[in-house]
Amino acid sequence: MAGNAVATNKRVVLKRHVTGFPMEEDMEVVVDTVRLRVPAGSPAVLVQNLYLSCDPWMRGRMSKHDDGGAAETAPDFVVGETLVNFGVGIVIDSTHPEFKAGDLVWGMSGWEEYTLVSKSESLFKINHTELPLSYYTGVLGLTGFTAYASFMEVGRPKKGDFVFVSSASGAVGQVAGQLAKIAGCYVVGSAGSDEKVDLLKTKFGFDDTFNYKSETDLAAALKRCLPDGIDIYVDNMGGATLDAGLLNMRWGGRVVVCGMISQYNLEEQYGLRNMYRIIPKALRVEGFNVTGYFHMYSRFEEEMAGYIKEGKVVVVQDVVEGIESAPTALIGLFSGKNVGKQLVALIRE
Ligand code: NAP
Repeated sequence: MAGNAVATNKRVVLKRHVTGFPMEEDMEVVVDTVRLRVPAGSPAVLVQNLYLSCDPWMRGRMSKHDDGGAAETAPDFVVGETLVNFGVGIVIDSTHPEFKAGDLVWGMSGWEEYTLVSKSESLFKINHTELPLSYYTGVLGLTGFTAYASFMEVGRPKKGDFVFVSSASGAVGQVAGQLAKIAGCYVVGSAGSDEKVDLLKTKFGFDDTFNYKSETDLAAALKRCLPDGIDIYVDNMGGATLDAGLLNMRWGGRVVVCGMISQYNLEEQYGLRNMYRIIPKALRVEGFNVTGYFHMYSRFEEEMAGYIKEGKVVVVQDVVEGIESAPTALIGLFSGKNVGKQLVALIRE
């Protein structure tokens, strides 16, 4: 490639900080150019993005926090700068000894067509190129890994455990539920539409399900589906569902606090009423942050690739085309518009 070659680079930038529900007007697609060479200096990798992931955690970074946000793992996005999230791409040029042009990679990237990655510790080579590359935005990427590490390390399943997964048809939930089945558990999932609830049973093999939007009493719905109570609760929602879950836990149960999407756009958070249940039932309620588990990623990648090839884990993705579609897709996560893992295809393999 000629050293001076340039390409246009469409990017999604934050237009203003967000309060409440995010809107398309909070983001803007801008076009500029990028030189297709890593500048001389410290090691870096120039990646052409093929698939971008849409994740609820991006919402937290779109607000302005007095303390800058969770500075270590998720600092506030800066107005005028490109949004950042996980993606799948191909290396165009590299001055990093571990990456070369043509390598397929996934990891932290910009919401743009080309990204210069200087923090190569957040870039992973894709080892299973025989599987769809888009899987590395989900089942083989951050959300599948989140499901695996949170369920296995925090949930610590035993055969016969009763498991409840909220937001169960989503990217994390669908994998957590299938891993629970592989572990020999009885698995119940909740989701926000009849179509999603149907998927849980027919596609992902959940034993029982409910549509939380059509239940008037969430604790009663859980009691109906899990009359003997819950051993492991993988919570992606928080709020009223978490409260209902706490009431239905069994002795020694584990609550894996993975996400609280019901709270991300609220100015005032839901006040949990049933926290006292932690004591008589000797519960372990543990916050999970995937960033602390990447040392397990290689093991996970091999295990999950095996499950996919054996048909033990199936995947439902919701794919939109082109970077212009990314803001709408991101916003859709907060009204449950996505069915399965939401991602943006820029270039298909
Ligand atoms: P997802 O489930 O694929 O998509 C989001 C889903 O959340 C929507 O489809 C919708 O499903 C539900 N939802 C949206 N607004 C809601 C509301 N106000 N109340 C209740 N449900 C709502 O997303 P995901 O990527 O798998 O993420 C799931 C959770 O895991 C999120 O909370 C995310 O932040 C968390 N997460 C945590 C980590 C970690 O390290 N702790 C890593 C990755 C993800 P329904 O139609 O079923 O309501």
